[in-house]
Amino acid sequence: MSTSIDQIRNIGIIAHIDAGKTTTTERILYYAKFLHRPGGVDEGTTATDFDEEEAKRGITIYSAAITCKWNGHTINIIDTPGHVDFTAEVERSLRVLDGAVVVFSAMEGVEAQSETVWRQADKYNVPRICFINKMDRIGASFERTFEEIQKRLRGNPVALQIPIGEGTTSTGDSFSGVIDLIKMQALFYDQESMGDQFEVQEIPEAYLEKAQEWRAKLLESVAELDEAVLEQYYETEDIAEDVIVRLLREATLKGDLQPTFCGSSLNYIGVQPVLDGVTSFLPSPLDRPPVEGINPQPKKRGGEAGGHETRGPSVDEPMCGLVFKIQADKHGDLCFMRVYSGQLKSGSRLLNPRTGKKELVSQLWRVQAGAREKVETDSIDAGDIIGVIGPKEAVTGDTLCEIQHPILLETISFPETVISMA
Ligand code: GDP
Repeated sequence: MSTSIDQIRNIGIIAHIDAGKTTTTERILYYAKFLHRPGGVDEGTTATDFDEEEAKRGITIYSAAITCKWNGHTINIIDTPGHVDFTAEVERSLRVLDGAVVVFSAMEGVEAQSETVWRQADKYNVPRICFINKMDRIGASFERTFEEIQKRLRGNPVALQIPIGEGTTSTGDSFSGVIDLIKMQALFYDQESMGDQFEVQEIPEAYLEKAQEWRAKLLESVAELDEAVLEQYYETEDIAEDVIVRLLREATLKGDLQPTFCGSSLNYIGVQPVLDGVTSFLPSPLDRPPVEGINPQPKKRGGEAGGHETRGPSVDEPMCGLVFKIQADKHGDLCFMRVYSGQLKSGSRLLNPRTGKKELVSQLWRVQAGAREKVETDSIDAGDIIGVIGPKEAVTGDTLCEIQHPILLETISFPETVISMA
């Protein structure tokens, strides 16, 4: 069953090395596997398929793209290279994703590499949410990290949560859960269930004042986004939950704000709200501008030399996609492709405008969280990401498109070699 395009999220998880990108990704896959929420689409992979060994070794997460389901959404997690340089590879992965989760360590705060990935995401207008991780580490500080995102990154984080306790101390103030500032409730996590269950409680007395202060900041940030809401906020000092979520989403999509969460991915705390944040605040392919390119065969088609072409995220447009990574697989080379428009069908032939040759799409495979094997599919729609077997001469960065409607998506301007960050 295919997901409707507005329920697709193509995201990257980006971070300074060691901030917890791998652990957070694993936890996301864990939750998306086991906890199919009401309305979630289960495509026949059950909890028993989950390969613990594989999860432990983190093999799946090194796939160029892995698909998981959450709240009825299809989330494609695109692997973004861990290194800091502006290489074509980093650039390509940022091109094919629509939004990002930026992971920070609450202990180290904003680090040099966090600045690099933040700037890269700025360059590609990638809307993002923040996850302040490692709240359980001694020396962890939510507030300090939050302020560093404001000052060092010139970001506009909006806290949707604050931690209950910070670090690990013998005085009982250990990090144990989070306060949800929208619903104004405390979520305490059950370590034994590895965070599968959490208890919703009233905010502890000792945290009430702090929670009210942070909620006031949240409401002010939201009120400033809309004049009518601002007026109403002055009168009632409150904003309805659905209005908060809607305005935050709009501002996040524009890149004006970054909803910010906290937790400890090691202890399974706080990752589920981040997944909810991905579906609530990050864009679907429909929220992104149409992709641009040039017509590589203008004369034949009676068009203008190098004529400008665009393709919108719709199955009714001619098919085009970008190959962003090729990985060897036992079935053959798997070309990971973002399909921007139209519908990609197994058995079809596509044009590679760089070589001018036609390529056969013999099989389409999805790397699915929790499934032991990749899942084969007959066709996928605009907005989605898939592994294609068949193309013989495609290299990363190539466009594959409908033969009758050629388009060469904008070429990557950076060389493969490192450009100095100085
Ligand atoms: P990456 O380099 O960003 O992918 O970071 P990893 O996920 O590999 O994590 C780096 C190290 O930090 C590993 O030893 C993890 O076990 C540890 N780690 C990750 N998240 C947390 C956390 O929330 N709390 C603590 N205490 N350690 C964490």
